[in-house]
Amino acid sequence: MDLVVTLVAPVSLDPSRVVPFVRELGALRAERLGTRAADVFLCADLAATRAAVKALAGDDALDALVQPLAHRTKRLVVSDMDSTMIEQECIDELAGVHGLKPRVAAITERAMRGELDFAAALTERVGLLKGIPEASIDELLARVITPSPGAATLAATCRAHGVRTVLVSGGFTAFAEPVAARLGIDVAFANRLIAADGVLTGEVAHPILGADAKRERLLAEADALGVSLDDTMAIGDGANDLAMIEKAGLGLAYKAKPKVAAAADGAIQHTDLKTVLYAMGIAPERFVVPEGDGAP
Ligand SMILES: [Mg+2]
Repeated sequence: MDLVVTLVAPVSLDPSRVVPFVRELGALRAERLGTRAADVFLCADLAATRAAVKALAGDDALDALVQPLAHRTKRLVVSDMDSTMIEQECIDELAGVHGLKPRVAAITERAMRGELDFAAALTERVGLLKGIPEASIDELLARVITPSPGAATLAATCRAHGVRTVLVSGGFTAFAEPVAARLGIDVAFANRLIAADGVLTGEVAHPILGADAKRERLLAEADALGVSLDDTMAIGDGANDLAMIEKAGLGLAYKAKPKVAAAADGAIQHTDLKTVLYAMGIAPERFVVPEGDGAP
């Protein structure tokens, strides 16, 4: 199978770091993608190459993503929100209004590791949010919630290249919709917090959007676009992202829980979300970088 291995370094990629990949993989050729990335092209078995690349990358501060060359440029990117497109877990920040951040964050951590039932863990945590004013959400959005490095560039560049972007969150629409609007993501899906008289009731609307719903959203979006799953990508960090990550043409783990990183087609550990664009074969001179999102 014709494969491409994309190597991305945090700051700059020295050519000497590309050489072992070319040599050990018996690659046909390598090509630079700007100053901090390179593509290595070869014809080999996908699974064997992923294992070989993992060993070659070792402990280097370098992300190496292996995929079939065909369908490399995607038509649809479906992403998780909390700890993926943004740096926080919104439910933990919201719980902080009641001084309950450590308690809720501990449950979130276990749920994202796949140690708890997602819906039950969400219901329990939302119950602790009872009485919090809805206005707290706007304050958190303004003062606390920050896009992950590269998230704005990923969304803007996808938009410029005709790639549809979808946010699917097990968090809440009250965060996901403004975050999508801020980043320029086409559409957002999430759970709805119930409020009465401007105050959260401690309830979440049903059905709860969990792992299966994320996967179904990926399938529905691909279907609506009339593209095959080969043309799709899913990105996430938590156990509730695994079903969509496994289904997508390329499933990527972003600074993910161990279980997720192990199961994904590739893992971004050392670099930012712009690596997704390099993986799609988009050269940095074609990136659209919104102000404040760093260098390509
Ligand atoms: Mg997440």
